[in-house]
Amino acid sequence: MAERVIPLVDQRLAALSAVLPGHPVAATGLLADKLGRPLRDLRISVTDRCNFRCSYCMPKEVFDKDYKYLPHASLLSFEEITQLARQFLAHGVQKIRLTGGEPLLRKNIEVLIEQLAALRTVEGKSPELTLTTNGSLLARKARSLKAAGLQRVTVSLDGLDDAVFRQMNDVDFPVAEVLEGIAAARAAGLGPIKVNMVVKRGTNHDQVLPMARHFRHSGIVLRFIEYMDVGATNGWRMDEVMPSSEVRDLIDAEFPLVALPASTPGETAQRWAYADGGGEVGFISSVTQAFCGDCNRARLSTEGKLYLCLFASNGYDLRSLLRGGTSDAELASAIGQIWQGRGDRYSELRSTMGPDSAAGGGRRVEMSYIGG
Ligand code: SAM
Ligand code: SF4
Ligand code: SF4
Repeated sequence: MAERVIPLVDQRLAALSAVLPGHPVAATGLLADKLGRPLRDLRISVTDRCNFRCSYCMPKEVFDKDYKYLPHASLLSFEEITQLARQFLAHGVQKIRLTGGEPLLRKNIEVLIEQLAALRTVEGKSPELTLTTNGSLLARKARSLKAAGLQRVTVSLDGLDDAVFRQMNDVDFPVAEVLEGIAAARAAGLGPIKVNMVVKRGTNHDQVLPMARHFRHSGIVLRFIEYMDVGATNGWRMDEVMPSSEVRDLIDAEFPLVALPASTPGETAQRWAYADGGGEVGFISSVTQAFCGDCNRARLSTEGKLYLCLFASNGYDLRSLLRGGTSDAELASAIGQIWQGRGDRYSELRSTMGPDSAAGGGRRVEMSYIGG
């Protein structure tokens, strides 16, 4: 049995202050960080709550009935999220992903989607607007999400065997309802749909082939994610990580695969296709194959902190600026300066620093708080 690590400090309380730069950083869409990486992808966590207790993300022992979730007043309002998103788009963001926690638990999420869908990129186009969900509420919400302007969804599903899946989500949630959610999303036009499966050796690795068989020829892109050492509560151990190369070999032995080129710079998944035309699969290898070199993702936490890396221990407090009456130009300037100072590349450094460290030293925040 893996030893559970219970956090002694609440990392959400720590914040780096976001200051207004002496010299304005104009939003030109050409922003680059210290390693020359642009800002293209914004992930917004809209709630830190979830109705699942996946052991790799929100283990029951920590996220129990006494766990203190953020009070409503500290959450960014929809208007605040939209105001910030507008500045990120001015700096070159092309894609916005809503996440959490479980984003579909945030009340009236469709209202936020409508507001975000009305924004424009620097080129005057609609941003790509997508959402990652555990699928539990999708059957009920797919049509209203589409009507509000959501373009696509990514659904997390860790297996097809009902017993394994119920154990993974740890709230006894049945597979069938997630599959219904995926079907509803497809019927509503929320595609192309992606399905994410976290592979944990010893827990659900025997689900790799059933999942591959199920989603081949479906038009849905199945992506296998290496179990990551995010946060500080999941008791992560390297021997529970099943490297993507192993998952790929397993599939390739039954259904030969051919490599595909990356479709966009900074893409998280390595893309492969079934040689027989059965569609595409992806591998997200953030443990065994670091991909920080072109990481163009920023994360906005539920309470408005800007995180420059999934493994960061601190975020920059944009909410204080927002609520302090800062102008849009000043907000853009502050975001620009923070991004210009970014040098994070945790996955590349993991091997030298060891998995227990955070990108900037200190304890890492939980994935449910900053979003995946
Ligand atoms: N609740 C939604 C869901 O599960 O899709 C959105 C938030 S969840 C934090 C986003 C993604 O992060 C999910 O696909 C989940 O499987 C993944 N994830 C969470 N913890 C992880 C870990 N330790 N390693 C790898 N992926 C993880
Ligand atoms: Fe909830 Fe998603 Fe985390 Fe599972 S992975 S506990 S569904 S936030
Ligand atoms: Fe990006 Fe940090 Fe992940 Fe590297 S470790 S790819 S910098 S989020």
